[in-house]
This record gives sequence, C-alpha cells and structure tokens, in this order.
Amino acid sequence: MKRKMKLNKKGKVLIIILIIIIFLILFAIFKRNNNLWNNQIIKTDKYNLSIYYEKTNIKLLDDQIKEYILSQKKEFIDTANKNNTDNMYDFIYESQVKEYNDIFFIHSVLYKYLGGVHYEREDKSFVYDSINKKFLTINDFINGEDEMLKLSLIAKHKIYGYSDINKIEIDKDNMNIGTLPSLENYEHFYFSDSGITIIFVPMQILSWSEGEIKIDIPYEEINSLLKDKYKNINYTDNVPTKIEPIVRNIEKYKNKKLIAFTFDDGPNNNTTKILLDGLEEYDAKVTFFVLGSRVSYNEEILKRAYKEGNEIGSHTYSHRNLLKLSDEELKSEINNTNKSIKNILGINPKLIRPPYGNINTHIKQLTMMHTICWDIDSNDWRYKDRYKIMNEIVKHAHDGAIVLVHDIYKESVLGSLLAMKELKKEGYEFVTISEMIKLKNIVLDYDTTYYGF
Ligand code: ZN
Repeated sequence: MKRKMKLNKKGKVLIIILIIIIFLILFAIFKRNNNLWNNQIIKTDKYNLSIYYEKTNIKLLDDQIKEYILSQKKEFIDTANKNNTDNMYDFIYESQVKEYNDIFFIHSVLYKYLGGVHYEREDKSFVYDSINKKFLTINDFINGEDEMLKLSLIAKHKIYGYSDINKIEIDKDNMNIGTLPSLENYEHFYFSDSGITIIFVPMQILSWSEGEIKIDIPYEEINSLLKDKYKNINYTDNVPTKIEPIVRNIEKYKNKKLIAFTFDDGPNNNTTKILLDGLEEYDAKVTFFVLGSRVSYNEEILKRAYKEGNEIGSHTYSHRNLLKLSDEELKSEINNTNKSIKNILGINPKLIRPPYGNINTHIKQLTMMHTICWDIDSNDWRYKDRYKIMNEIVKHAHDGAIVLVHDIYKESVLGSLLAMKELKKEGYEFVTISEMIKLKNIVLDYDTTYYGF
C-alpha cells in the first residue's frame, strides 16, 4: 500500500514536470512566432508574403507598427485565400528606420499584387519622439500656417528642379494638388544633419511608372520655417542682434490705389538719406534693391531704411548680367549679397531684382527668391531732372504698379518725392512689395517674374 502511494507520488511529480516542459515548449513556440511578426517569409500555393521591419525596441512605436503590419497581413491573406485564379498574389513589406536627435522616422512601403496590371503600393510613415513619447506630424516641426505654405512653395520649386534634371514633364494640376500644405501631402519625411527630406509617393505628383520623388531641403532654406526646438543651431549662430523694424497697420490701405516704389543700385549714405527724410510726409514705405558690394560702406543708412519699415531686397553683389554667368559665379553673386545683408540686418532678403531685369528659369531655381521687376520705368538715369522724372512716373501711374528708380542720384530721389506728392492728391498710397501683396491677397512663387500686381 505504502509502496504504491510512493509510486503514485513519483508519477505525479513526473506528470507535473512533463506539463511544465510542454508548457515551456508551447510558450517558446508562441514567443518565437510572436517575435517573428517583423521579419517573416511565407509561401503557399496562393501567395507569397514577406515582411521586413527592423525593430527599434521602443515598445510604443514597435506596437503601433506591429498593429499596422498585422492588420495589413490579415486583410491580404483573407483576400488571397479567396483567390481562385492561377495568379500568385504577393505581399512585400519593407521599411526604413532613421533616427535623428531622438526622433525616429519610419517610412514603410507595402507592395501588394492582387491580380491586375501592376502592384499596389501603400506608403506609411511613423514619426516618433522617443523623449516625449509622442507621435509627430509635419505640423509639429513647422512653425505655423504661413511657414507651411512657404514649405509647399519650396517643395514645388525643388520638384520642378528634379523634373528639369530628369526631363520629366509634370502635370500642373497634379503638382498643385500634390504639394498643397496639408498633412497628407507631407506625411513622409525625415530630418538629418543636412536638413529635411520629403518623399512624394507615386501618383501624388508623378505617374505610377515614373515613381516617387525625394527632395532634400537644406537647413539654410528650411531653418527659418521650423519651430525653435527643431532649428539647427549651426545656422542660427552668428546672427547679429536682429533689428526690429516698424510694422505698420496696413488695414487702412485696403481698397486704395497702391504703388510700390522700388529703388535700385543703393544704398547711398547721402542720397538715400534725402529719400528717407522725405517719405514720412507722404506716409510712404518703399522697397530697396541693394547691391551687396555697396551694403557694407553704407551700413547705417541701410539699417535706418529697414528699421523705418521699408523693405530690403537683393540687386545682386556686383550688378553683372546674370545670363552671362556660370553657376558658381551666380551663386556667389546671390550668396554674398544675402550674407552682407544678413550681417547687418539679421534677415535674409526674400526678393531679388535681377540687374537689367535679366533672369531665366535656371537662375530662379538657383536663387530661390521671388523675382520682382517693374512696369513703370522712370528713366531717371537718362533724364537726370526731377520734374521729368516726376512726370514720367505720374503719367504711367496705376493701381498695383511697380516703379523703378535709382536712389543713388539726387534728382531721382527728389523726382520720386515730387511724384508722390502729385499721386497722393489722386488718392494713391505707397507701399512696399510685401505690403502690396498682402493687401492684394497674393502669394509670391519662385517661378514668376512680377512686373506689377
Ligand atoms: Zn540696377
């Protein structure tokens, strides 16, 4: 009796051990399968499936991606099992993980073949801030709506550049819709040491066969659009104390006749000063297209012009005909001017007036500035007489006009002030280019040459 009991006890222990072993094996199998969600290949007589995702080992992020992959997989397998044709269905999931400043950028592409002419492609991105444990969108990086609009203009410009190089014709409607400043259009992006890369997926702008477009925007161009914490500090060092210009309320000029006076070839400590002294009487603000080579010798007057609410644009460094320059020369004409202005005012000019009005698409793509020409030429350098200059301007005046004058001649400056006096009587107001476009609800692009508004 006792003996039998003992045997039974041993048996019980054995059974318990056996159960534990079976449980461990089952658990290992389960664990293995569970761990394989991110990396697997399945082949059946109806379909092939391959999944590759490199785990970040950040649970919240990996869980999100797992959920996405598994739901896609389930949907595919359900469809594939109903497949009665000889076509092998296919499922390929691939992803790229990039990390920059503790933010993970995951862009995945899922190709599915479910019969038909070609594969279907679905792009999915996850941007995850591992410090604050938060998923992010482009809106978390870009400062506001205006900046988002600027980003879309830059993107457009880069895409045109891409299509130029690759000789791809771009449908204007696709371009406009595909670059609109919306979350969907800017879902796929990542940051790196050099700036932001944005991916425009097939069918967003180009056709399926032409594929995706990847554009790189360096910090030089995007830094000012980013929220402070995402700015690349290397590009904000060395900025002089920013001068805070007077910003006037332009509401009262709405529905008024507007003229933008623009002054080229300056600044000049003497003649520009006469102009600035006279502007107040006509409640006028104007735009200066300055030469980089003259900026440092006339620093004080440039600061005053800017501080008083006038606009400063570039007229290049040395006033050469841009059409005759190599790309290297062009870049130095543009960059040196912008640097000179930034060193004094702390801002990058957004507007450019090409010398002689000479510019083409290629130059515009290099400069990435808004090209402003004119529709009223005062011919001041020819007349050298204040009354003739005044007459020339008044005779051609119209709402939305851009007037060309040179503030390096005293007669030109006096002629402009006389013209303002006359035009004021006719109900005109005098605004900068930026004020003009705001009042007329215009958003400048990088491709157009503006002669008036
Ligand atoms: Zn000029």
